[in-house]
Amino acid sequence: MNKPIATMARTNEILEKYDLYAKKNFGQNFIIEPGIVEKIARLSKADEHSAVIEIGPGIGALTEQLAHVAGQVLAFEIDDRLIDVLADTLSACLNVTVVHQDFLEADLNATVSQLKTTWDQVLVCANLPYYITTPILFKIFESKADIPVITVMMQKEVADRFTASVSTKDYNALSVIVQYQYQVQTVMKIPKTIFNPRPAVDSAVVQFTKKQPDRIAGDEALFFALVKGCFKQRRKTLYNNFREYLQDKEKAMRLLNEAGLEPSLRAETMTLDQFLDLYEVTYETKSLREN
Ligand code: SAM
Repeated sequence: MNKPIATMARTNEILEKYDLYAKKNFGQNFIIEPGIVEKIARLSKADEHSAVIEIGPGIGALTEQLAHVAGQVLAFEIDDRLIDVLADTLSACLNVTVVHQDFLEADLNATVSQLKTTWDQVLVCANLPYYITTPILFKIFESKADIPVITVMMQKEVADRFTASVSTKDYNALSVIVQYQYQVQTVMKIPKTIFNPRPAVDSAVVQFTKKQPDRIAGDEALFFALVKGCFKQRRKTLYNNFREYLQDKEKAMRLLNEAGLEPSLRAETMTLDQFLDLYEVTYETKSLREN
């Protein structure tokens, strides 16, 4: 029986056999620590009734482990060199389908709906290509596809921004926008030593679990624009950023008063609820209650 793909010996053997080198422009860093991929697959929440979507299977290290825990794995890989390699390395994993496509071009809603006809739940689990971590995640978030849990590896500094709490240095518009929709948690810290080639920075596995929010903004696009406006210049006060966002000084002061927010606050000290308060007074709408 073959050793796991994620062992250093097997990875080197595959790279040599196919004369492969990691392509930097595709963000290729292969995991060479079998315990880590096993653990990520276990953390994904997949079981035999679940389908898992993976973005960037590489030579199949994580895919192989996902295939052990999930009913089906659908893996999107952009690099045409890897398609034949994956057919070989994953030949024993009959529940894996590799799609040769740029994930950013994929019709995610159609894919998820199709998988849901067979499986109880559809999850995402991946070691993401770091150069497009945020576009990939926002494609998933904005699709509104029914994906209750997303478990992905990314650069530690990006993970820190997604998971940041209010009043910390990493808390920014991205933290607020994502935490509005998901419970966000770092579930594993990953040293750079477990990759081939070794990246410059450490990584983390972040899990996004869909929330049942009790306050939702009626127009999310407007809510997100307002949050971004409040963070526009980090060193400026809430009043200064907000009045620029509204292009109206008096109105800005009046609305901050109405929302019970000190004009001298800075966005990084504002909770999600305070952003929703400001959204409500600005757009004269109560945030809706779900259910
Ligand atoms: N899953 C493997 C592992 O953990 O060892 C490889 C992860 S590597 C960090 C990222 C993978 O994403 C590479 O295989 C790369 O070719 C692939 N990739 C990069 N951009 C992509 C895109 N837009 N769509 C799908 N796959 C992509």
